[in-house]
Amino acid sequence: MNPGTEDRALGLLNTVFGFPAFRGAQAEIVRHVAGGGDALVLMPTGGGKSLCYQLPALLRPGTAVVVSPLIALMQDQVAALRQLGVRAAFLNSTLEGREANAVERALREGELDLLYVAPERLTMPRMLELLEESQLALFAIDEAHCVSQWGHDFRPEYLQLSLLHERFPAVPRIALTATADPQTRAEIIRRLALDDARVFISSFDRPNIRYAIVDKQDARAQLLAFVREAHPGEAGIVYCLSRKKVDETAAWLAGQGLRALPYHAGMDSSARGANQERFQREDGVVMVATIAFGMGIDKPDVRFVAHLDLPKSIEGYYQETGRAGRDGLPADAWMSYGLADVVQLRRMIEQGEGGEDFRRVSFAKLDALLGLCETAGCRRVRLLGYFGEASEPCGNCDTCLDPPQTWDATEAARKALSCIYRTGQRFGAVHLMDVLRGKATDRVTQWNHDQLNVFGAGADLDEATWRSVFRQLVALGYASPDHDAYGGLRLTEAARAVLKGEERVEMRRAAPGKGRKPKARAPSGIPGGDEALLARLKAWRSGEARAQSVPPYVVFHDRTLAEIAAARPGSLDALGGIPGIGAKKLERYGPALLDLLRGA
Ligand code: ADP
Ligand code: ZN
Repeated sequence: MNPGTEDRALGLLNTVFGFPAFRGAQAEIVRHVAGGGDALVLMPTGGGKSLCYQLPALLRPGTAVVVSPLIALMQDQVAALRQLGVRAAFLNSTLEGREANAVERALREGELDLLYVAPERLTMPRMLELLEESQLALFAIDEAHCVSQWGHDFRPEYLQLSLLHERFPAVPRIALTATADPQTRAEIIRRLALDDARVFISSFDRPNIRYAIVDKQDARAQLLAFVREAHPGEAGIVYCLSRKKVDETAAWLAGQGLRALPYHAGMDSSARGANQERFQREDGVVMVATIAFGMGIDKPDVRFVAHLDLPKSIEGYYQETGRAGRDGLPADAWMSYGLADVVQLRRMIEQGEGGEDFRRVSFAKLDALLGLCETAGCRRVRLLGYFGEASEPCGNCDTCLDPPQTWDATEAARKALSCIYRTGQRFGAVHLMDVLRGKATDRVTQWNHDQLNVFGAGADLDEATWRSVFRQLVALGYASPDHDAYGGLRLTEAARAVLKGEERVEMRRAAPGKGRKPKARAPSGIPGGDEALLARLKAWRSGEARAQSVPPYVVFHDRTLAEIAAARPGSLDALGGIPGIGAKKLERYGPALLDLLRGA
């Protein structure tokens, strides 16, 4: 990079994007790519990957070509860049012939800083010829893990992208992904011929996300209480395992006054698309979805991600929760988890397709996830440790904020295991709890279980405690659900030592009703903000966004509005000093904002 380029980079960061400083490795990556080097960038969602190619695009002569699989988002990405005064356009199947021709002409004539292209279009012969006639600044390959045949986002078109290197050896390439694991990384390097690329790996921590996993009691009611308390009127995603549960949960939440919408692969595509559009463009929509609602989400202000069912693995959990708080403001990852979840997932794995190896891996992944759910230690330490990153207790997860009590549950575990054994290893936890607590239900008397000596042996502990005991017995591997019956529990080999009194069992104490209330935080995360003023700023932003048919965050991010509400700038100069307000936005929105502030 030429001397002075560094100053230019910082200058553009300030004036165009309105940010005072680079974040993490951004400065180094920008310097490397602007200087013509290839790069592979691994950064968590919300880490700030876009700037890593957008700034070099402005620093280098010619047009940067951005390959992105997310056609639905190209339009919004381009709209956001145009708001900043950057000359950006996209080419994909949604454009009419005439519009596409105009974009192609602009490219050839060097009138574009950035061009977003869908991968299948990029590798068409005509497109490649057009690129050869144009001056190119760089290629950016976004969501680069889509080349991985083993990942869930595999796109065959991505395999063709290695030809960029062959056809345009002099044009630097930067590949970006939020997928952390070493196999995917190696596959990206191999398939995109990035052997000489510098690899930039950031920490995968998302410090603004607060992790919490609660004991499942009445999951819906717990969810509603959580949303009302921590995120009233804010955008969030609620994940459920089945389509039916998605529909029911969305309808129920809507009945409780939330702006909740369903999203799953069983809906017809126009209804699904319309709901996604509303989530993206309106403030405060709660999307209830299966994991089919995933990669197409670029919304920076998702304030919470809730799981009503257990995800299949820590990878899945981390990817799904990672959609919260991309803007860096406080966000929550909330999950409710109970025995039925464990039973259901175990059964799905046992009855699912795939060979013995696949099943073994699936069980190992589930166990790692259960370890996360049951840990009395810091959730973040566990999560990051799973991805090979060492860390210290975070102070921003439920177990750090409110350390769970553990208790010597050996006696209770023995009673529970013996109850499973005496009743014939075929009944589920609900029945077993009735027997232990001495409830002579019809079912109990029908099977003569009131005649057993375990009947009533556990009357000293309440129902919530027993529920958590059975859950932990399964999670810790002392009992396992029978896959033929309906959640009937049987003993495992490990149970023997406990029954014989040779092993002590330590458990987390159930905290019924305690419900780990999130400690109060300024909703915006920026102290000193005036909430009434913030609400007016948001209302103003909604009007602007609607008038231009762009999502609100394209006008200003929540963070920028929160900073304005806290600083209450009185002049254009002061307003220009707010992070997220570059020269173009100051010129365009400054006067209206000052009017609004003066009236406040
Ligand atoms: P990713 O693509 O890695 O998920 P983005 O590029 O969308 O992340 O950036 C995430 C958020 O961080 C965006 O709101 C972006 O404007 C903001 N951001 C990125 N870099 C900076 C920076 N240097 N200073 C302030 N905010 C930044
Ligand atoms: Zn923690």
